[in-house]
Amino acid sequence: MLGLYILIAILLVLAAFVAVLLIRTAAFKPKNEKRAVPHEEVFDKDAAVSALAELVKCKTVSSYKKEEEDEVEFEKLIGMLPKLYPSVFVTCELKKLEDRALLFRWKGKSVGEPAVLMAHYDVVPVNEDMWDKPPFDAIIENEVMWGRGTLDTKVTMNGVLSAANKLISDGFVPENDVYFAFSGGEEVNGLGALNIVNYFKEQNITLGVVVDEGGAVVENVFPGVKSPCALIGIAEKGMLNLEYTVKSAGGHASAPKPHTPVGVLSMACSKVEAKPFKAHITKPVAEMFDTLGRHSNFVYRMIFANLWCFRGVLDMIAKKSGGEMNALMRTTVAFTQMSGSSAPNVIPPEATMVSNIRLNPEDTVESAMEYIGSVIGDDSIKLTAHNGTNPSRISSTDCDGWRKVSAAVADTWQGSIVSPYLMVQCSDSRHYGAISDRVYRFSAMALTTEERATIHGNNERIRLDAVYKAVEFYIRLMRQL
Ligand SMILES: [Zn+2]
Repeated sequence: MLGLYILIAILLVLAAFVAVLLIRTAAFKPKNEKRAVPHEEVFDKDAAVSALAELVKCKTVSSYKKEEEDEVEFEKLIGMLPKLYPSVFVTCELKKLEDRALLFRWKGKSVGEPAVLMAHYDVVPVNEDMWDKPPFDAIIENEVMWGRGTLDTKVTMNGVLSAANKLISDGFVPENDVYFAFSGGEEVNGLGALNIVNYFKEQNITLGVVVDEGGAVVENVFPGVKSPCALIGIAEKGMLNLEYTVKSAGGHASAPKPHTPVGVLSMACSKVEAKPFKAHITKPVAEMFDTLGRHSNFVYRMIFANLWCFRGVLDMIAKKSGGEMNALMRTTVAFTQMSGSSAPNVIPPEATMVSNIRLNPEDTVESAMEYIGSVIGDDSIKLTAHNGTNPSRISSTDCDGWRKVSAAVADTWQGSIVSPYLMVQCSDSRHYGAISDRVYRFSAMALTTEERATIHGNNERIRLDAVYKAVEFYIRLMRQL
């Protein structure tokens, strides 16, 4: 009899548990934010396309190999701007700062906090033989423009300047100052953006909103979500190249000790891979789950609505599959380089390996090194940090800056789900964390997976429709600034 009561009690608890899961899942539906149909923005589309083509034709390649850079091409691009965007040059003042930084100021009616719209006009080098069309001719075929920098990020520079050019021609004056901040060395960690941030600091200018490259309108990025997602980065992960070095007496390979330096490093490598960093659902990721999760299929909605219960399951899936979901939740470690001795029969006097580490907002360069050191537990391995950058500050999503950017995104890409997210790459905007918690990373484009792959790769190209949309987005944004 007692057994039966216990069984009934267990069943009741189980039923209550399932009921809680289901009720929470049912309540976890898209927030109903009905938007009025935005009015159409009319502007000179042909002018926007031909201006972008002119920018693309300048070979503004920045490279760690200085001989691959041609300063004349950068000057050519800068010299061309007044002709391409004449009204901008009538109204805005242009300040040039060190390291090819360009800072335009468009004076507003009031003295409230200004906005900063960023882009970079340098591009990464090309492997011309691998391209189907020349990378710097801006050839247009079937409504597609080919060329290095079309996506990254001359399209947004052109978007900002074409939008401002149109609005200024119409007699529009923004409420507050708007700055356009363009750097010419983003791809090589140049100092242009930092110099601009320092200028704002010196002038005691506090910013209302900053928009730089980052997320985009993309499909198939979140489990179970079919609609396009417009991802706006509200933080970016930090980065660290960690070098592991082991020294030995070297010698001939015919009578080795049980472990050579390469063996020692391999053990360290497998230990680190076996013990990934702890998962954290930080603010950007929590808000992304809470936004996109509501649009997902039943199973995932149940998981994201009940993270109190399924967090462990989600973590297990992420750990096993790696990839983007995992990168959102933890500091990741990718072993990328290893070197030993110069001959097959010589024990290396020194062996090194390098891992590229992307730091979750909860980690720092120091805490990550400490964790790796403890996982390895081997004092013979020396750890050296190279190019360590801590994660960025996390931007607010409860302020006018966020609301303005997300409204412009929602009106331009109707039908897409606008969501905060954590960027796993680095951008120039990380420097702005020092002066603002309203920095939003969004590349104003809808991109397919295939198109995304051409960024920094071969055959980079853009649909003309995307060129128009970028202009449209900035017009909608500027009207609110
Ligand atoms: Zn790039």
